[in-house]
This record gives sequence, structure tokens and C-alpha cells, in this order.
Amino acid sequence: MRDLPDFAIFITDPEGTVITWNAGVERNLGYTESEFVGQNLSVIFTPEDVANGGPRREMEMAIRHGTFPDRRWHTKKDGTSIFVDGVITALKSESGELTGFAKIMRDVTRRKRMEEALQKSNEELSNFAQLVAHDLGAPLRAISIHLDRALSRLAGPLDDETKASVDFVHKGVRDMQNLIQDLLKLAQISASVEAQPVSLEAALEKALSYFQAVMSATGAAVTHDPLPIVEGNATQFAEIFQNLIGNALKYRSERPPRIHVSVSRYGREWAISVEDNGIGIEAKYLDRIFESFKRLHGGEISGTGLGLTICKKIVERYGGRIWAESQAGKGSKFWFTLQAN
Ligand code: ADP
Repeated sequence: MRDLPDFAIFITDPEGTVITWNAGVERNLGYTESEFVGQNLSVIFTPEDVANGGPRREMEMAIRHGTFPDRRWHTKKDGTSIFVDGVITALKSESGELTGFAKIMRDVTRRKRMEEALQKSNEELSNFAQLVAHDLGAPLRAISIHLDRALSRLAGPLDDETKASVDFVHKGVRDMQNLIQDLLKLAQISASVEAQPVSLEAALEKALSYFQAVMSATGAAVTHDPLPIVEGNATQFAEIFQNLIGNALKYRSERPPRIHVSVSRYGREWAISVEDNGIGIEAKYLDRIFESFKRLHGGEISGTGLGLTICKKIVERYGGRIWAESQAGKGSKFWFTLQAN
């Protein structure tokens, strides 16, 4: 047990009292052999973990599952903290009787601190983006309101040219508000909290609820396969559907929109597609549309050029990919993958 000095390795009896030790224990946790052998393994747990029955629970999980992962803060002999990545294994005799536990662990404090720093800086970026969005939004709202107030004080109806200018200002304000919101969403994707089980079916329903009016005005129909539960963030998955369905409706042809959401499983991944019968996309642009501000149908149809960038960033955050297939004039099919459980 003198090998592997980067790893702290020790064996306990069934009660958790340490029987043997390697040099890695001293290097990682600061205890010499004589200080460590004979102690209960709870000595390296934080006072909170000990109070919550952490050591006992870990041993019980090892008995139940054979081996159990241990990723947590521990306490060194000098009282400082160490974050470890390790496992505890229940040792059994040939007759199946518990003879003790083996614990192997490695110091990953630096990595843990870097992860925490990254999470903190993402949160700061997200807070900053929120402040900027708020501060940019306020003058925009003021422009619209004061323009309307000023106009209401003018006597008589507006001539066509003035009306067109006023509409232009209002549209400019709306476009700018949408752009601020999309930039805010983009900045917040990496700062979002841990993954939860999310029903993609519910995410799709939420997205569709935004489009009731345009769907009935255009005679659109959206159908879908039964959708799975995946790990992630509900708001972000709704965001993906909102962008893809929104585009399928926006870039429609003369025909009433027919949109289908399908799902197939390939090994450990779900491949989800959103197919439309809209105007389609020329093959040479199929990759570039995922870049920020890349718009093919600029003038006539409003948009920020960030919708697909947002989808890509969300999908990639969960280890997936996104791409498009299309035939100009026939329709488009957007695919994305997500990890299956
Ligand atoms: P936006 O819709 O705001 O312009 P997106 O990033 O969502 O931005 O899309 C980028 C461009 O890709 C769009 O401007 C459009 O030209 C093209 N596009 C996206 N979805 C479709 C679709 N379903 N059918 C045809 N063109 C599409």
C-alpha cells in the first residue's frame, strides 16, 4: 500500500475503524500511520457531515451497492478542507460476510475551486447582462411613450409620411427590445443552475402557447411524436422549441404551415427534429444560419438573427449537436440531439 502516492488509500473494519494506511493518506490528509490507524473514518468527514450521519450512510450505500462514489469536502488533520473524488467499497469474505471497507480518494480541490470560480463568473456575467438589459430597456420604453404623448398633443390627424415615420420609430424600439432580450438569454445560458428531469412534451406545449394567435391566423397545424423526459433546464428547452417553431411559422410559404416534431433514439442519444413545409433554405447557408446575426430573409421578416445561436448554445451545453436539412421551396428540418438517460 506504499504505491500510488497521489491516492489516499485505507482499509477499515466493518465499524469503520482504520486498519491499514498508505503514504497517500499523509500526503492528502496529513495523518501519519500511527495517527491514522485505529481512528474511525468519520475523523476525515466535516463536522456537518458527521452530524448528518454522512459516514454511516456512505458505509450503508457501499454495503448495498458494492462500491459507492465519494465526491465531497473532507477535513484534513490541520482542520483545512480538501475536495476529494473517490470511492468506498464494501469488502466481503467468501461466505459473503462483511469484513470491512476500502476507501480510495484523490485530491481534486483545485479543479473544484476552478469550477466554483467559473460558476461565479458566469453568474456575474448573467447579473451584469440583466442590469445592462434593464438600463437599455428603460430609455427605449421612454422613447415610445413620449413620442405617443407628443403626437397626441398635436392638433389634427397625422399625414401619411409622419405616420410612416412614427411606425418606423415604434418598430425600431420593438426590434431593439427583442435584441436586448435575446442577448440577455444568450448571456444567461451558461449561468443556469443544475440539470433537472424535464418533460420535453411540457416544454413544447409551453412554446406552442406563445403562437396560438399566429397559428389560427395562418391555419397552421403542429403535430408531434410522444416526447421523452431529459435532463436539463425546462425554460431552456422551451426556448429551443419556441425558436424552432417560431421560425417554422415565420418562414412559411403560401401553404398553411404543417409542422411536425419527431423523436428517435440512437444509442445513448435522442435525436429530435422540427420539420416544416415553409420556404426552405439554400444548401450553402445551412451551416451559417447558426451564426449570430446571420439572416437570410432580412428585410421583410423581423427577427434578431440570434434565435438559432441561442438554440445551438443550449443544445451544446447539454452535450448535444444541432443542424438543419432543407430543400429550398419545399421546407426545412432542424435536428438536435440530447443525452438519453
Ligand atoms: P431570426 O429568425 O431572428 O432571423 P434565427 O437565428 O432564428 O434568426 O434564424 C437565422 C436565419 O435562418 C433566419 O433569418 C432565416 O433566414 C433562416 N431560417 C431559420 N429557420 C428557418 C426555417 N424554418 N425556414 C427557413 N429559413 C429559416
